[in-house]
Order: sequence, then structure tokens, then C-alpha cells
Amino acid sequence: MRIILLGPPGSGKGTQAQLLVQRYGIVQLSTGEMLRAAVAAGTPVGLKAKEIMAGGGLVPDDVVVGIISDRIDQPDAKAGFILDGFPRTVPQAEALDELLKHKHMKLDAVIELRVNESALLSRVETRVAQMRERGEEVRVDDTPEVLTKRLASYRSLTEPLIHYYSERRKLSTIDGMMAIDEVTRAIHRLLLALGAVEPKTHAKGTTKSTVKGAAKKGAKKAAKVAKKPAKTAKKAAKASKKAAKGAPKTTKKALKKAVKKMVKKAAKKGPKKSAKKVTKKRAKR
Ligand code: AMP
Repeated sequence: MRIILLGPPGSGKGTQAQLLVQRYGIVQLSTGEMLRAAVAAGTPVGLKAKEIMAGGGLVPDDVVVGIISDRIDQPDAKAGFILDGFPRTVPQAEALDELLKHKHMKLDAVIELRVNESALLSRVETRVAQMRERGEEVRVDDTPEVLTKRLASYRSLTEPLIHYYSERRKLSTIDGMMAIDEVTRAIHRLLLALGAVEPKTHAKGTTKSTVKGAAKKGAKKAAKVAKKPAKTAKKAAKASKKAAKGAPKTTKKALKKAVKKMVKKAAKKGPKKSAKKVTKKRAKR
């Protein structure tokens, strides 16, 4: 499974990535973490990145693309990875497409964690307080001034990726304002609906799922099947249908049920055209 987590600083990408790592046994590839390690180690990349990072700017595209390309080739990334903080610009996304193509790899999903901007500052303040409590070194760029700059660069350089991936039918949006475990469950439901994780029925009636592909290789990580999907209705319905093809009957049932619930939920909320369209279509049938 290969996924991208997209969202502004403080949207919970890092937290969710860590939880997904535990759940599916895949690796988190955080360019921010890798760059911070390079800065701490004083490598040439670190020296190049240090000032830029401290000021809230973006490290040049070729530097981060090089880091990611090397990291993806390492054995622990074979079962899958979560890209956290990469890509951050359209050229980075294009470079990623190219390098995945070259490596014969495909992305399963790009998940946008959507949050209210007003909540971001307090979230970062909480992160800082928690790091201090744990006695950890606080990031030099986690100050209100630098956060403002990071947000500005997110808006101008990273937000266009929402359009980029939505055009390529890869984008799914999840409400990042929900509680941490709710967001994790929503991501899981989404991955299930997309067929990126495989549901597996066990004797005692518990349903578990494993990372697609990795399951066959004996991957031990499994996850509980979520009940309510949280993706835009149209896309998820389509994806679920695709996933249902060839799936065992119990899975098909679960997926159908999940899609029905999701369509209902989306119709209730009613803000998205796609949800309305699906509901209408279904009503006609
Ligand atoms: P993060 O930990 O993702 O918030 O990243 C911290 C900082 O590292 C960012 O503010 C950037 O200066 C730098 N950085 C991380 N990822 C990238 C990237 N994909 N492209 C450019 N700069 C990055």
C-alpha cells in the first residue's frame, strides 16, 4: 500500500502516519523528519536545508525528490509506505509520478486531511507543550511566526496538489477536525473501500483486514474493518464497487452496506454535488 497524506502543518499527518504504520506494518516516509535528521547530523543536505527550514520555507525540490527516491528503494519500504510532507509542490508531485512509474509502483490513494485554519495554531501549540513535557527538543519552526510562513507556503505551493490529484482521480478528503481515532477509522474505511487493504473474515466473527499484497507475503499487521466510510460519496462508491468485484460474498455485503451508509451520510450533509448525484442515481434505480 502506498499513500500520501496531504494537509497543512498541524493537520495531524504525522500522528495519523504513525498510527497507520502500527496498523499496517508499512513505513512512514516523512521528508520533514529526514531533513531534521540531516540537519542534526550536519550532512551536506542538512547544511543546505537548515536555514530554509528554520525560516519556514521549502527546501529545493531536487533535494527532497532525491531523498525520497533513495528511501523508497530501501527494503523496509517494499511492503508499502506513507508519504508524510511529500510531495509539497506540483513539480515534486510530477517527479514522484515519474519515479514511481520508473520503479513500476502505483499510488493507492492521496488523502487530504482537511482542517479549519483557525485550529492549526492551537494544535501546534499543543504539540510544542507535549514535546516539552516529554523532555523532547522542540522544533525551531514550531513558533507562531514561522507557522504563519509555513501556512503561507502551504497555501501557495502545496494546496494546488489538491487539484492535481483530484484531476487524476486519486484524491480523497477526510475531515481532520474529528478526534484522532475517528480520523484513523475514516482513513481505514477509505483504504478498505479503495481495495488498498484486504478484509479477512475470521472464524469468531471478527473481521480483520491486511495490507493488499503484503497479506500474501505473511504480513502480520491487521486492522478492524470500519463501518462507516468517510470519502466523497461518488468516488468511494465507485472504488467500493471495484473492490467488491472478485471479493468474497461477505466482503461484498460489507462494502455495499458501507457505501449505502456513506451515501446517506453525504446526502444528509448535502454540500457536495457528487454525493447528491449518487443519491439521485440510486433513487432512480
Ligand atoms: P514538516 O515536518 O513536514 O512540517 O517539515 C518541516 C520543514 O521541512 C518544512 O517547513 C520544510 O522547510 C522542510 N520540508 C519538509 N518536507 C519538504 C518537502 N517535501 N519539500 C520542501 N521542503 C520540505
